[in-house]
Amino acid sequence: MESARSAKHWVTTFNLYSAPGGEAPTLNGVTAAFDMTRDQLAEALGDEPAYRTDQVWRQLWERGTWPEAMTDLPRQLREQLAKVITPALREVARSESRDKTVKWLWELPDGARIETVLMIYPGRATVCVSSQAGCAMACSFCATGQSGFTRHLTTGEIVEQVVAARAAAAPRRLGNVVFMGMGEPLANYDRTWGAVERIHDHLGISARHITVSTVGVVAGIRRLAQEDLPVNLAVSLHAARDELRNRIVPLNRRYPLSVLMGACSEYAAAKNRRLSFEWALIDGVNDTAQDAAELAELALPLGAHVNVIPLNPTPGYLGRGTPPDGVRAFCGYLMAHGVNATVRANRGTDIDAACGQLAANAGGRRPRTDAGLAIPAAAREALGEPVSRPGRKGATLK
Ligand code: SAH
Repeated sequence: MESARSAKHWVTTFNLYSAPGGEAPTLNGVTAAFDMTRDQLAEALGDEPAYRTDQVWRQLWERGTWPEAMTDLPRQLREQLAKVITPALREVARSESRDKTVKWLWELPDGARIETVLMIYPGRATVCVSSQAGCAMACSFCATGQSGFTRHLTTGEIVEQVVAARAAAAPRRLGNVVFMGMGEPLANYDRTWGAVERIHDHLGISARHITVSTVGVVAGIRRLAQEDLPVNLAVSLHAARDELRNRIVPLNRRYPLSVLMGACSEYAAAKNRRLSFEWALIDGVNDTAQDAAELAELALPLGAHVNVIPLNPTPGYLGRGTPPDGVRAFCGYLMAHGVNATVRANRGTDIDAACGQLAANAGGRRPRTDAGLAIPAAAREALGEPVSRPGRKGATLK
């Protein structure tokens, strides 16, 4: 009985956190379990003995156990907790490719959809998480960019993807987390960084096994350089001259290459971490010897590692991936000029889990052209710049 009373108190307290001005972020009144801090959990457990906080916290974070399966709690408390500590991710579909890559399509409490990809290698596993539902950056060749922006994810929604992937990877250790799923992590800076801290502090994954990938949000890279945890930084470059990059990565019109390289160099100096450049090789667009020479000129002074991947085809973009001979020639050129380069294996292609193919919100997909003078309004809005737009679709974070 006592625990039932406490659980009632718990529910009341919990609702306080959902109120405007409360600490835990809420989405349409729902708090993701992994958004709660330990103190919030302790306070919310109210009259329950102090050890309960530890008990619930550890099961949630260390084992990914949800309240209904916390069999060491009194049944009534468990049932009450199950009403409020609920998963933010509902599995809509899960597919497994021939190379054991697992892709989930999740639905969030407000109906937004995101994807997570788990890549399994001998003895270890890497999860690729989404940081936003959709993306406002509008890179022409990227499926998520083609589908547009829905909303930012909360910290807890990002963390829960890692917790789910860790369970699926067992008995292999989930060793690496890469922010290379849907969305632009640095356009959702605070929640992304909150997730990095929680993944590090509570899931025990070290900073050097966490990689934040950005299309080049310079303001975000500069903030990242001030943080304590030295995560790896990957920059999706794809073009090493402004004229071309303006066309395929519209954000370049806001942060041209000279500014972006300045921020990269600041990051490398501050963190002493390996910087990498991502380069999706597009047949006849960015795969010539001249492109390789321009890339080498940017990569060498920064000691950047280049990850080359032949473009994965997406419905809204006409370009195709460079054929294998061209990929070899491009990498050969880079290496002959002293640049560290690897060709990234294209995993999960048979289940559309490969880079840039994540497009869970495909409903809004529209073909894009590379033309245009300004960066898209949605991208400016996502970066916190004022934009006048009639009405907005989708949920907002309160
Ligand atoms: N917004 C972040 C992270 C998400 S995209 C960023 O841009 O880095 C993860 C990587 O996949 C990026 O390097 C992106 O440029 C790349 N990518 C997107 N579409 C692709 C495609 N069709 N083929 C190959 N790589 C792609």
